[in-house]
Order: sequence, then C-alpha cells, then structure tokens
Amino acid sequence: MRKRLFAITLTLLLLLSGCEGLLEPQPEFVGGSGLTVEFIDVGQADSILVTCEDATMLIDGGNAADSDLIYTYLKDRGITRLDYVIATHAHEDHIGGLPGALEYAEAGTALCPVTDYDSKVFDNFVRALDEQGVSITVPEPGERFPLGGAEAEIVGPINPSDDPNGTSVVLRLTYGKTSFLFAGDAERGEEQDILGAGYNLSADVLKVGHHGSDTSTSYPFLREVMPRYAVISCGTDNSYGHPHDGLLSRLRDADVTLYRTDMQGSVTCVSDGETVSFTVERNAGAQTNPAQPSVAEDHYIANINSRVFHRPSCSGLPAEKNRVTFGTREEAAGEGYTPCGICKP
Ligand SMILES: [Zn+2]
Ligand SMILES: [Zn+2]
Repeated sequence: MRKRLFAITLTLLLLLSGCEGLLEPQPEFVGGSGLTVEFIDVGQADSILVTCEDATMLIDGGNAADSDLIYTYLKDRGITRLDYVIATHAHEDHIGGLPGALEYAEAGTALCPVTDYDSKVFDNFVRALDEQGVSITVPEPGERFPLGGAEAEIVGPINPSDDPNGTSVVLRLTYGKTSFLFAGDAERGEEQDILGAGYNLSADVLKVGHHGSDTSTSYPFLREVMPRYAVISCGTDNSYGHPHDGLLSRLRDADVTLYRTDMQGSVTCVSDGETVSFTVERNAGAQTNPAQPSVAEDHYIANINSRVFHRPSCSGLPAEKNRVTFGTREEAAGEGYTPCGICKP
C-alpha cells in the first residue's frame, strides 16, 4: 500500500514538473495609461515596439536572426495582437525578424512602402502575413490613424526612390504634448522631399535615420524636427562605422541628448502626455556623444620670406625650402611672424 502511494506521488510529481510551462501564468497585455516606446536592441538593425493604452504597433523587426528575440519579446509582454505592423522599407535589417513577431501576434494593419521586393526575406514576410489573411497596405503621405490615445501621421515617403532606404516610411506620433519622429533609413533626399511637403515635423524624440549614417539627419531636417532627445539603433563595432562622426557632431550642435542601443542595449521611453522619460538596459551614465577633443597643433610652420606662420594643417603652407618651425604661436609672434589669414593659428 505504502509502495503504491509512493508510486502515485512520484507520478504526480513527474507530471507536474513536466507541465511546469503550462502551470506558469502567461502574461497578458492589458495596456495601461501613457505611451511606451521601446527601441529594442537588435544590433545593426531597427525594431521599435510602441504601446499606447491598449493599442500596439511594431515598427520593423530587426534581422531574420532576430525572429526568436522579437517572438520572445512580444510573448514576455503577452502582446498577442499588433494593431499596426510597419515595415519601414524592404531591407533585411528592418523586415527580417517580422515573421517572428507574426508567429506570436496577429496583425491588424500591415504598412510597407512596397508590396513586392526581390528577396527571400521579403517573401517570408509576405508569407507570414498571408497566413493571417493580411495583405500589405502602402501608406499615403498625410494619412493619419489613432493608436490608443496617440495619433500617428505618415509624413514620408513623398516620392518613389530606386534606393530602398529612400522609400522608408517616416512616421510622426503625437501623444498629448509629446511627439516622436521615426525616420526609418531615410536619407538626405527623402528628408528634402519631406521638408518640401511642409508637414509639422517637430518632435521631442527622433529615431535617427539610417542607424546614424552621415547621409541622414541633415541640418535642415534637424532644424525642423528640433528634437530634445535622439535614439540611434545600431550594432556595437558595426562594419558601417555607424554612427558617423559628422552626424554625432550635428546632434551635439543641436544640443540633443543621445541614447544608443549599441552602448546601452534596449532603450525605453515613456510619455505621460506632458513629458518623456528614458530608461536603458545598461550603461545609463554612458557618454553617448562626447565632444571630440580638438586636435592639438603641436607646432607652427612659418614662411621665412612672407614672415607668415601657419597651422601644420593649413592649405597654404610654404615650400619646404622656405620653412621654419616654431613650438608655440608666442615664439612665432615674438620673432615678428604674423598669423595666416586662412588657418588663423
Ligand atoms: Zn537599416
Ligand atoms: Zn535600409
């Protein structure tokens, strides 16, 4: 009898341990107040999950290799429905992981600038939508749609482009007094078209175009958006050199506080309709955009004939035979040399 009881207990225990996954409560997304924008760390790629009250939107899904990550990300939050799935453009680092999202969540509307693109990754994306009976909608500039209490507006692309980056869906999202601009991989040309179309582009938070490439986020565009915060989604030590120094310097000039997924992992921004606040996965205090140290000029080159002295980088240096060097500008001036008008040493 005792033996039998033991066997039953053992069987029960085994059964229970085998069912562990089933017994664990599955999270269920119920939404809440406010707007949350999660810039998911997908390395050299983009994926942004937006939830506002009980509405959900996924902008891009990372690379194909991120499919599992995106699946788990949605599962952990119990997000079984995405009201909007936005594929900003057909490149793999934006649509590759979307099948993972669609495996867990059903899509309401799927927006993409093209319905056809010659790649296996794109075919997989279309197939994943097909399985849900959803077809791609090509958004029109100026189109608006609500997302919970927020409102989204399509501000680009304006014109067709041969370069997929130039077809990027650019979206402005407003929630109360706060606003966001998601620029996909838009580059200068598309930015100019968008500026020409005259939309209100002002935003508290800018998702920087094309992973921080120097060919994106031009000064005229930045001047219209006037962000206080910017987020760059790129991979650590990526082979493209993103983010580029030129872009980082423009963001410094515009006094923008920068968050970076390569340095800080996933970046989460919450808006209560009045203000936005950020949390990061790691390195909260990282110097994301330190000022470049000015290049030290360790000597000056003077022309013994014209008696003018220059920085070594000057375009108007004298011929080798007419040169004399000084360690400091005071030395040069003390010898009666005058500073060059071009390099202004
Ligand atoms: Zn990209
Ligand atoms: Zn791209």
